[in-house]
Amino acid sequence: MPEIRLLPDKVANQIAAGEVIERPAAVVKELLENSLDAGATRVEIEFKNGGRSYIRIEDNGHGMTKDQALLSIERHATSKIRLADDLLSIASFGFRGEALPSIASVSRFQLRTRTSASDSGSELMINGGKLVHVKECGMPTGTRIEVSHLFNSVPARRKFLKADPTEAAHIIQLARIYAIANPQTAFTLMENGRLVFNSPVCPSLKDRVQEIFGSSISDGLVPVKTEESDYRLYGLVSEPGRGRSTRHEMITIVNNRPVTSPTLNQALVESYHAYLPRGRYPIAFLFLELDPGAVDVNVHPAKREVRFRDAARVRGFIIRSLLDGLRELTEASKPAGVTGKRTSSAEPVPKPVPAAIGKMSARPVPSQPRHGVSATPVTQKPVPQPASEKPKEEKNWELGWKFVGHVQRGLAVFDSAKGIIVLDRRATHQRILYEELERQYLDQKVPAQQLLLPVPIELDALGASLMLDNLDFLNHSGFKVAEFGRNFFRIEAVPVWTTPDEAESLMIDLVGMMKDGSLRKNKPVEAFDHIARLACTKSVRLDDSVSEREMVSLVSQLFKCKNPLISPLGKPTYFELGRNELDRRFMR
Ligand code: ADP
Ligand code: MG
Repeated sequence: MPEIRLLPDKVANQIAAGEVIERPAAVVKELLENSLDAGATRVEIEFKNGGRSYIRIEDNGHGMTKDQALLSIERHATSKIRLADDLLSIASFGFRGEALPSIASVSRFQLRTRTSASDSGSELMINGGKLVHVKECGMPTGTRIEVSHLFNSVPARRKFLKADPTEAAHIIQLARIYAIANPQTAFTLMENGRLVFNSPVCPSLKDRVQEIFGSSISDGLVPVKTEESDYRLYGLVSEPGRGRSTRHEMITIVNNRPVTSPTLNQALVESYHAYLPRGRYPIAFLFLELDPGAVDVNVHPAKREVRFRDAARVRGFIIRSLLDGLRELTEASKPAGVTGKRTSSAEPVPKPVPAAIGKMSARPVPSQPRHGVSATPVTQKPVPQPASEKPKEEKNWELGWKFVGHVQRGLAVFDSAKGIIVLDRRATHQRILYEELERQYLDQKVPAQQLLLPVPIELDALGASLMLDNLDFLNHSGFKVAEFGRNFFRIEAVPVWTTPDEAESLMIDLVGMMKDGSLRKNKPVEAFDHIARLACTKSVRLDDSVSEREMVSLVSQLFKCKNPLISPLGKPTYFELGRNELDRRFMR
């Protein structure tokens, strides 16, 4: 039995804390993993103010005796590995024995724990790494850890924390992912006294996803299940055409451990290359099982990232499995499960982008338009015409640009006194639309189209509370959204730059942006800027039949913009090949 020292090496712990505990979500992660390692079938997580002021994790696992509890706050005290060789076959989450002492060194830390063999529990209180007291306490079997005043003693770290909602979003995302990865454990997550989600022990992954992420995510997922020699892949992925604007819902779990892995992420994105437009990401809850010896989890102190011994094979396996399923889905009219058993592992990775499908735009799978509009449906989004004054076409002619024709894909060529101008119509169109929207927003006159049938949408608890916070803002941005019952909303109108059948997916994207913190009601102009950019990415390309007059009008609108040179997405709208440059090239 090693000697138990009551004052762990404070400095060493704070250094370790710097590596492992970079933010409140990391505390939650470590404590949660300990609870799962202790065999808990129920875990309750509570936090306040993004975890800065308070974090509590309570479990019904096997608990610790008083001596074990005292040892657990010593550096490199772990019950999980004994020999270095054990590192090769780690089945538990923890193994470094660093987490508890690290957390205790940078917070006010209270540990209460009891094993089923003893009648009373033990309570340890540590403040900034100093043991304050050890005493008996009454409590059920299990462990309860409370962490408050996190990083108070480490101002340098405190400074690096983001605003509370951002830290909160990290904690919530983490808790969700762990709940998804551990369906045999019941999870409750509370934020500032409010329930974020509650998921009882749950046999079906689909139900679990619905409870934790809401039905807007769980609907439209299809099962995947494949095997290839010693690799096994299963889970749920989005059907073709259904994607999100962020990678937040690409969740990968390797041998029951939620991980981030560039190999897996790339394989996922690549599989959907032909099935999602650019900038959209699939939704995935993917479980990969393989020999633990083929995965290195000891890459990063916080164990977030894993590496595969044979990354190329893993990548190939994932892409093959998903592509097979996705192809079947697009070919068969009725969505079915993504299934298939593989035996050979030597098959080459299929080329992920067949040119024809790769070009598909927003909706590879034709979807039934479910909702009509009262006005004429907007199909080709019109370039907003200058509202009042007569188009100043003279200005364009003043520039001396003479329209020559359409070339390549979406480019227009003009001849000018100074040389040749090549203009990207899409970027031009986006710039005009963007500034028009900006002006409408500042005038508080963003045009909306009323939906004939309002679209109901169910959000998770966090999404719903963010939505409530932002209702006013949305209703000034061309939307009309109303609450109708717990976590339910009704979309009654959408801006004219989108189409009614996109109302739901658009709203889900916006809620995602609220969760990111990119859309905040206290910064409405910036928030609207995000919406306007979104509008620009959705604006369609004008076809090549655009007449000379329309082109001239487009250019004249472009030059009324405050910033005609680049699109709101940062791409050039046109460039000029000067007379001198042409002469130089032709050696004239
Ligand atoms: P590690 O998880 O790497 O072993 P930690 O510092 O996280 O290191 O925990 C130290 C030890 O404390 C663990 O090995 C375990 O024996 C014990 N422990 C921590 N949390 C719990 C818990 N919730 N229930 C039971 N035992 C725990
Ligand atoms: Mg641990």
